This record gives sequence, structure tokens and C-alpha cells, in this order.
Amino acid sequence: MTIALGVIGGSGLYEIEGLTRVKKVLVKTPFGDPSAPYTLGRLGEVELCFLPRHGVGHRLLPSEVNSRANLWGFKKLGVERLLSFSAVGSLREAIEPGDLVMPDQIFDRTAGREQTFFGDGLVAHVPLADPMCQELSDMAYAAATALGGRVHKGGTYLCMEGPAFSTRAESRVHRLWGMDVVGMTAFPEAKLAREAEICYATAALVTDFDCWHAVEADVSVPAVLEVLRRNVALAKSMVREIAKKLPAPRTCGCGEALRDALLTDPAHVTPAARRRLGLLFGRRLPAAKAKPVVKKARKAARAGRR
Ligand SMILES: [Zn+2]
Repeated sequence: MTIALGVIGGSGLYEIEGLTRVKKVLVKTPFGDPSAPYTLGRLGEVELCFLPRHGVGHRLLPSEVNSRANLWGFKKLGVERLLSFSAVGSLREAIEPGDLVMPDQIFDRTAGREQTFFGDGLVAHVPLADPMCQELSDMAYAAATALGGRVHKGGTYLCMEGPAFSTRAESRVHRLWGMDVVGMTAFPEAKLAREAEICYATAALVTDFDCWHAVEADVSVPAVLEVLRRNVALAKSMVREIAKKLPAPRTCGCGEALRDALLTDPAHVTPAARRRLGLLFGRRLPAAKAKPVVKKARKAARAGRR
């Protein structure tokens, strides 16, 4: 089965309406449980897969979201393109609550989150200079623009640990650093998507001005929810618009991210690591060759005993 589009819903976006032939699928992963069962269904002509990042009923903190399990699940289900929604604060006068930003960069300020599928006997390094899939990001931008949304193309998403909002000093420093929006969830999702060779883009729904603004009120949950209520409709319409353009072959490089990434000598990748990461590496991890040296040594020893 091919799933044309995966969608991760953030704060305020907990389901996609209009799906037909809906089924819920629990996915087991080597990294624990995803946030919730995946919702599979058809939207128009294409198969779509949805996951609420914070779980059913929004029970998971950004720090508690098991992004490795979530991304692994999408990979296992056959998702090639993944659009994530994330509520963010604006760090720029020109980016207003209710706007949408399609960031092209992420700056990671999280702490202690599991950020990689690799390790435990397998070393690999994927390129991440451009963490978003430009092709998918452009599709999302075009969809949002066609729907009449106020959309900003490009920008840097600073991902903080949370769950408290920024201090005023942090907010000011983030602005000085040249960041454009601040959120809590795009990392390590983007990095894990690249490791899984999944196209990934974040649509950042702007809900507030964080706390740097001299005139606007400081960010608060009621204010965030009020704006989200308005722009979640745009998010859902965007998914429908993008689905109309799919399926389409990928012309980006995301599907080849692991081609030159493996540093460990395949002969030394442990059987456990092979089993764990076979879903990602598949054909790129050649079978370990038998070690004839040992056999020869045994033969020599036997010959010596005669
Ligand atoms: Zn891509």
C-alpha cells in the first residue's frame, strides 16, 4: 500500500475531516509506542495517514512526544511525504498571529530528546543542511496561498524545550539571533524524517508574539487557543488541497539521504542493529560476509592435531 501523505497534527489539530474508509492502526516500533494509533483513510483519490502528535486528548508534553516511534510508524506504513503542523510564536513584527510560516531552517534548542535512530552498533550521518523538504514545503505554501492564507515563505524555526513559554530575555535573544518563529516540536521530527528518508515540512501556525513585543500581550494558553480555532480550518483545507496534487513522484533528494550515510563497516554491524534498522537501510546494508579466516584456523588446528 502507498500512502501519499502523512500528517502530524499539533496543538489544535487533532483530526482530519472528510476521510473515507477510515481505519485506526496501532504500530509497534523498536523505539516504543507512537503518540496514538494512526488514522488511515482516503481523501479524494489518495490514501492519507494522520497522527495527533500530543496523543488523544492532548496528553503529551512536547518533551514527552516519542518522535522516534512516531516517525518509525510513518515509515513502516509506507509514508514518503510528511507534513507537520506546529503552533508557534512570532519573533518578527511582520509575522502576525493568524499567519502561516513555511520555515526553511530549524535551530535546535531542545535538551535531552532522543534525536536519532542510529547508534548501538551502527554509525550513520545524514545531511541536514536543509532540514525541510523544499518540494513539499512549496506544495504546502502554494496550497495555503491558494486558500487565501497569509503565508510567509522561508524563515527559521527555533525549537525550544518548553513546556513553559520563553522568558523575556530568551525571546529577545532569539530575535537577535535572527530567528523568526519559536515552537516546541519541529525537532527532532525533521532530523528523524531525514534519517528515515521521508520528505518533511513544517507548517507553522502563528498564534502570538511570544513575549518580546512592547504593545502586544504576552503569550498565554487562552490567547493561543483563540487564534488556533481560527487557523486550524486553514490547516485542514491545506491538507485537502495538497492531496489533490498527489500522488506525484519525488524529485527532491530526501529519498536518498542514507545513500552515503553509513560509516560502520557492514561486516561489523551487529545482527541486533541489522534487525532493528533493516526498515531504514534495507538494500543499503549489504549482508555480512562469512568469515572464512575462522574456518581456516579451525581446519589448521584440526590438521595440527593429527
Ligand atoms: Zn523531499
